[in-house]
Amino acid sequence: MPSILIIEDDQRIRAALATRLSERGHDVETVATAMEGVSRAVSGEFEVVVLDLGLPDLDGTEALRMIRSVSQVPVVVATARDDESDIISVLDAGADDYVIKPYSADHLAARMRAVLRRASDGIEDDTITVGDLRLDLDAHEATLSGNKLDLTARAFDLLAYLASRPGKLVSKRELLAEVWRQPYGGADKTVDVHISWLRKELGETAAEPRYLHTRRGVGVRLVDPDR
Ligand code: CA
Repeated sequence: MPSILIIEDDQRIRAALATRLSERGHDVETVATAMEGVSRAVSGEFEVVVLDLGLPDLDGTEALRMIRSVSQVPVVVATARDDESDIISVLDAGADDYVIKPYSADHLAARMRAVLRRASDGIEDDTITVGDLRLDLDAHEATLSGNKLDLTARAFDLLAYLASRPGKLVSKRELLAEVWRQPYGGADKTVDVHISWLRKELGETAAEPRYLHTRRGVGVRLVDPDR
């Protein structure tokens, strides 16, 4: 689980986030000022930084510029300002993503996962292989034993998300947040329908699964059937 630095002057928000994210298994450190935050953020000890923009000692955008001058650590900006020009200026200053206050720990966690995934995309190999299943992430093509699968863009994204976490049970909620970008849920039938399309292409059924194993009410995992 990635370790997280939270730079936030509001004690209640700090405590609530630290609790919720620790419960999820993250290592969390919190600081209340921009200067302390900058020096901790560039220490190399954190995989992601959550930066409040309204800090007492220094504007968050300025803090972000200081971090960016020495470090590429992913930064998610948390802001109460929904003014579009502010958001554009923090993204220009090097923020990887932003959340508007008030936000839930779940929402923040989903944004952080997306940021971390993008951060690792650049260095990972652009193919994923699980058993006879091979996904070319650049070409958006999947093959099973060399035969090309006929998938919609979303079905490919779903398959890629599961195949990059082989053996891990992934909840529908996570899939809706990460693949469909609907962190607050929605029609989870959508996931079921896409799973059954994938099954058809993979030549398997719910009764006789090979790659895709669903657990009712919990989620789905993709496994190498020959292992
Ligand atoms: Ca603040």
